[in-house]
Amino acid sequence: MTTRFENGIVVTLGKNNRVLWNGSVVTEGEKIVAVGNAAELKQRFPNADSVDCTGKIVLPGFICTHHHFYSTMARGMAIPGEPASNFVEILERLWWKVDRALLDEDILLSAQIPLIECLRNGTTTVIDHHASPGMRDGSLDLIEKAVREAGIRGSLCYEVSDRNVLGGGVEENARFIRKVGKGDGQIAAMMGLHASFTISDETLEKCVGIAKDAGVGCHVHVAEDLADREDSLKKYGMPVVHRLDKMGASGEKCLFIHCVHIDESEMDIIAATKTAVVHNPESNMNNAVGVTRLFDLLKRNILVGLGTDGMSSDMLAQMRCAYLLHRLANHDPRVAFMEAPKLLLENNADIVERQFGIRLGELAKGRPADMAILDYQPPTVLDENNFLGHLIFGLVDATVDTTVCRGQILMQGKKILSMDEERIAARSRELAPKMWKRLAEL
Ligand SMILES: [Zn+2]
Repeated sequence: MTTRFENGIVVTLGKNNRVLWNGSVVTEGEKIVAVGNAAELKQRFPNADSVDCTGKIVLPGFICTHHHFYSTMARGMAIPGEPASNFVEILERLWWKVDRALLDEDILLSAQIPLIECLRNGTTTVIDHHASPGMRDGSLDLIEKAVREAGIRGSLCYEVSDRNVLGGGVEENARFIRKVGKGDGQIAAMMGLHASFTISDETLEKCVGIAKDAGVGCHVHVAEDLADREDSLKKYGMPVVHRLDKMGASGEKCLFIHCVHIDESEMDIIAATKTAVVHNPESNMNNAVGVTRLFDLLKRNILVGLGTDGMSSDMLAQMRCAYLLHRLANHDPRVAFMEAPKLLLENNADIVERQFGIRLGELAKGRPADMAILDYQPPTVLDENNFLGHLIFGLVDATVDTTVCRGQILMQGKKILSMDEERIAARSRELAPKMWKRLAEL
């Protein structure tokens, strides 16, 4: 099927970003076949279906390189006991109970709801990190089912750790990596690891072996809090990145999440091994763990992407949070204007390319047809030179009207087409109190 998405302002992004007023993107199957002037492309593709994008801006779909779908049902829950006063207590009192309380249908719904939110926010590719020790086996299949139903792309993994049982999750992760194999462009797999302070050398060695044999990367939280660094120094006599690298868990396909408490020598290792880092500013602020030294990482040419860490599925909000945080943290109103959008628009596409082998983040002939189409009437000139100003101060608050992934229209006129939003939310409201009750008894 051929479709013209026409009459909107098309922003191609990519190496030679072009802004085309009265533009058109023509898709055929899963690919883009033409980008250009709407009138010309209407002549060239007269029989194509038409989606009118008047009053809208057409962008490549957004990418989230670190998410936790499983955190959904914690929303609005009163956390039992005293309020957590630090990061480790947040894990012990909240997240390590949430994951244990999840059963099969909870896992499915916990994925379906953020996937709906992805569609609502134009997020068309997600790298997720899942944990559900109460129902481990087959949990990734449930999430895969939800991602395929939503129609977006997902790279999935299970968060291995020794905190409940030695090597918990290794088998589920290995099974899913085997199942996915080289992937089909929609689903990919990684080896998920919780963090250095919850994984023994024995488990880490096993996981790295499986990942290397399959040619996939490790996806691990790194020095999110000072506690992770101190644990590694105490137990292994070296900081976290040195330990992970020594054990073979670094490299081009690997993702080191957060990297808030790392030193210069660790940054050098990350740069030398071409490991990617994912920055999650909202989550770091929420957990009060500190500020990632973003500019020191970028100076070393480290590939830094942007994730939400389960906080939301809204990548534009995350981008602006990074912009604001690093201006404040550096006491410098000259910084982050270029860098924050780059993490989202370019670097996340680079990270996904390493995993899926496809180039996203650009509207061009031959590229995958993944698009976010937002309501936006620019109040000033909008062109290639000032697009970032519109992105940070205008588009961040614009509503996504239409979401397209792999050439399929998944949301149109703000109506989700691929999933039954009302039924899913209602069922989640039914199951959440039961899950909260199980959690309170842990
Ligand atoms: Zn995380």
